[in-house]
Amino acid sequence: MHSIKENIQNVLGRMQAAVERSGYAAGSVALVAVTKNVGIDAIKEAFAAGITDIGENRVQEALGKHSLLSPLFPHIKWHMLGHLQTNKVGPAVRIFDLIHSVDSVYLAQEIGRQAKKTGKIQEILIQVNISREENKFGVDEGRLKQVIEDVAKIENVKIRGLMTIAPQNTDERGLRPIFRKIKEISAIITSAKISGVSMQYLSMGMSGDFETAIEEGANLVRIGTAIFGERNI
Ligand SMILES: *Cc1c(COP(=O)(O)O)cnc(C)c1O
Repeated sequence: MHSIKENIQNVLGRMQAAVERSGYAAGSVALVAVTKNVGIDAIKEAFAAGITDIGENRVQEALGKHSLLSPLFPHIKWHMLGHLQTNKVGPAVRIFDLIHSVDSVYLAQEIGRQAKKTGKIQEILIQVNISREENKFGVDEGRLKQVIEDVAKIENVKIRGLMTIAPQNTDERGLRPIFRKIKEISAIITSAKISGVSMQYLSMGMSGDFETAIEEGANLVRIGTAIFGERNI
């Protein structure tokens, strides 16, 4: 059993090695520690070990943690990773710096509407789905450009890149082309030069596949189990 600090150092080391293999800009991959189902003390340990970004899946759970942690750790960036229901958008916009899981124009409109109330520009990623059998959420590749063009017109919302959740139970040989495809799609969107849209972030890679994701161009990885251990739920 390793400490959270040791786990983080191990993950950072593996990330760095993957960056060096990748051929993409060295040192530019950010780590989001996924803290869903993780208690406050363990999260504080992660902060003490240098974590600056945390990711949550459910707004309700994140709100409780945010009210306890944000007064003590105001510099921490909060990432929303899970499917976002429209009735939770108000509180989500209040606490999250980056929402990774935007998968419809309708949801983006509601985000814009809520963000406008406080004058916030809410940064978002568009969730892409290229393994429809396994993942319910995300925009299909064929509709992606149109969705991005429509979301780009919404006030108080800014697209900063793409996110994907790779299929589970797929080995490295199956995953690599998926990650590569998303990187290609992000380059195509970049070259389309859609006004106000940035493809700065490519959020892909979790505990089981982050090295492959980085090798294929991920620059934001979301890691829970490899830092905090297996979740009980
Ligand atoms: C839970 C989760 C993660 C982290 O998964 P691990 O396998 O524990 O690293 C990353 N991204 C999303 C969207 C998640 O729901």
